[in-house]
Amino acid sequence: MVLAKYPRVRLGHLPTPLEPMDRLSEILGGPRIWVKRDDCTGLSSGGNKTRKLEYLMADAQKQGADTIVTQGATQSNHARQTAAAAAKLGMACHILLEDRTGYNDPGYNLNGNVLLDRLHGATVSKRGDGTDMNAEMEALAEKLMSDGRRPYIIPGGGSNPIGALGYVNCARELAEQSVDMGLRIDALVHATGSSGTQAGLVAGLAALQSEIHLLGIGVRAPQEKQEQMVFDLAQRTADYLGTGLQIDRSSVRADCGYVGPGYGLPTEGMKNALRLLATTEGLLFDPVYSGKGLDGLIDLVQKGYFGDMENIVFLHTGGSAALFGYPDTFDLPGYTE
Ligand SMILES: *Cc1c(COP(=O)(O)O)cnc(C)c1O
Repeated sequence: MVLAKYPRVRLGHLPTPLEPMDRLSEILGGPRIWVKRDDCTGLSSGGNKTRKLEYLMADAQKQGADTIVTQGATQSNHARQTAAAAAKLGMACHILLEDRTGYNDPGYNLNGNVLLDRLHGATVSKRGDGTDMNAEMEALAEKLMSDGRRPYIIPGGGSNPIGALGYVNCARELAEQSVDMGLRIDALVHATGSSGTQAGLVAGLAALQSEIHLLGIGVRAPQEKQEQMVFDLAQRTADYLGTGLQIDRSSVRADCGYVGPGYGLPTEGMKNALRLLATTEGLLFDPVYSGKGLDGLIDLVQKGYFGDMENIVFLHTGGSAALFGYPDTFDLPGYTE
């Protein structure tokens, strides 16, 4: 795999740790469960977008950009990490946030990732649910150009073949780690949304001829749509890599049974999973992505989905900064005035 030919700026603390979650594994009584700590990538409290931004921001620099334009949901982790990356590289950053939940809560609208976007110096503006966000980004880029700026548009979630290279790189990293640790990884599970993470992993694992069973847990789209998005981007990523690799459709698996009422809307399963991990492993997950991913992982372990597999890795994609946008979601005991 010839990743080295693509421009990359180092933004993350890589490789991220791969650690066992033995208290969780004991409670579930199934396979041993590990966590790949992509919540520890280091950039503005970490997360999976950092790996994508290493390639996207390098491309922006190559194009001579001085301003980044991107979009996401209100509590977008992608927006926060992009704002931080732009700050680190001395670029301006404009973020368009789509109101996908309709929450009026000031915590949701101003705290968590929104606070951090602004702290990193990004210019933030909101758009209503269902807005054509790509058209909005194009219009903003036009305006910036007429003001003499050189904008570079990063799609939502950083999900295009350039961004997905970050997860081709993660597949390589994980394969190396498993050799170094003498660990046979049977399955890899993570939350899948705009699809770049899973697409990069699918392409990367295929290039490595890895047998790891990869499963995305959906957070928004229904299964068919999610798998199609991942498959398309995985093939485009493989083409971009120039490997001549044909992606096997059956290597693209998404379980979209844990979305609940919709994107960014809490579920009981997410709340229970998040509290279980916080109280047994001392780890923080998020309500929108990794918490729903964990809910799926736990439920599937309990249902015997993994059969006689021995080692399952949960890719922790980050997002705990969004917890501060959901202050009243968890009915927490243990506080007295
Ligand atoms: C963006 C994000 C995901 C999903 O990754 P995609 O590449 O968009 O599919 C998962 N977890 C967290 C915390 C995220 O911010």
